[in-house]
Amino acid sequence: MTIQLFKPTFRVEECLEEIRECLEKGWTGLGFKTIEFEEKWKEYTGFKNAHFLNSATAGLHLAIKILKMTNGWQDGDEIISTPLTFVSTNHAIAYEGLKVVFADVDEYLCLDPKDVERKITNKTKAILFVGLGGSTGKYEEIVEICKRYKLKLIIDAAHMAGTRLNGEIPGKEADVLVYSFQAVKNLPTADSGMICFKEEKYDKLCREMTWLGINKDTYARTNDKGVYKWKYDVEYLGYKYHGNSIMAAIGLVQLKYLDIDNAYRRQLAKWYDEGFKNHLDKIKPIRVPINCESSRHLYIIEVNNRDDLLLALNENDIYPGVHYRDNTEYRMYSYAKGTCPNAHRMSNRVLSLPMHLRMTKYDVDYICEKIIKYSK
Ligand SMILES: *Cc1c(COP(=O)(O)O)cnc(C)c1O
Repeated sequence: MTIQLFKPTFRVEECLEEIRECLEKGWTGLGFKTIEFEEKWKEYTGFKNAHFLNSATAGLHLAIKILKMTNGWQDGDEIISTPLTFVSTNHAIAYEGLKVVFADVDEYLCLDPKDVERKITNKTKAILFVGLGGSTGKYEEIVEICKRYKLKLIIDAAHMAGTRLNGEIPGKEADVLVYSFQAVKNLPTADSGMICFKEEKYDKLCREMTWLGINKDTYARTNDKGVYKWKYDVEYLGYKYHGNSIMAAIGLVQLKYLDIDNAYRRQLAKWYDEGFKNHLDKIKPIRVPINCESSRHLYIIEVNNRDDLLLALNENDIYPGVHYRDNTEYRMYSYAKGTCPNAHRMSNRVLSLPMHLRMTKYDVDYICEKIIKYSK
């Protein structure tokens, strides 16, 4: 039997029931379930605004674009981000003609506040924080830096669905957060995401931008008889980024189980911790801050012989992953090569172990045994 890194679990009958409702009603697009999901997400997180999208990548792009449009940022202005992330985080900055300035990571593999502060220049406009694996890292210190230097704060919360910090969903201080509900995330749909702006006016603008820049207010005003439905205005060069009711239908079911599912992920993490506790000289689990209840999207260890270990595990039908390759190793971000030594070093030493709801303690013990056997 093979053990994969991720294997999403769906409550199939419940999902089909929600989807059936869309099909029978003849409403699979924007509206209906997307609105219901947005409302449920606001309730769950306590955020004032939430807009459902077709992906987190789209959301990150719009987060940057809208802050750029409304704050007078110029091409070439800088945003500080992490090199240990899925490349979509940093592409979002580059889409808008802004420069990605990479800061190094700390022991949690999240942005290191000290290096962030060193990388601030008079062109810095924002910090983009990634809660890697569901961890909050030193989020609170990043918030302080943003206040002190008057920088915007954007959170790539792709791994953070369900994460708590000091018992609460973190991010109220951020200008915008973006969640991913992509196929292997903690709240998997097939592809979708959510963007949560602090300010309502940006949420409103975002809703226009995710539908080609169409301003529906124009026809809403003259729509008493429904005759002028086509008479909307187009204010901006927007995109087709909004989510649909089929994805939202799946999301609504997944959200009901998010906290229970994440609790089981934390149980798996505990079992891994126990398995490695007498082998910390060669296998170092990446810790989560004590005031953080992580969604546990990932369980990452640091080892000396990562590539060999990965091959040995594959031979035993265990398929871990690597999160992530140092983005400054990619050709398009190579201008920053050498600027984040810790991220670079860790990128060659980290391994993400299988973490999903179909795993049992038996699986975790088996994986631990093999890792202990093959790590040097
Ligand atoms: C998955 C992921 C994204 C992109 O999410 P999509 O919904 O697939 O666009 C962005 N950032 C991180 C850290 C991710 O893991």
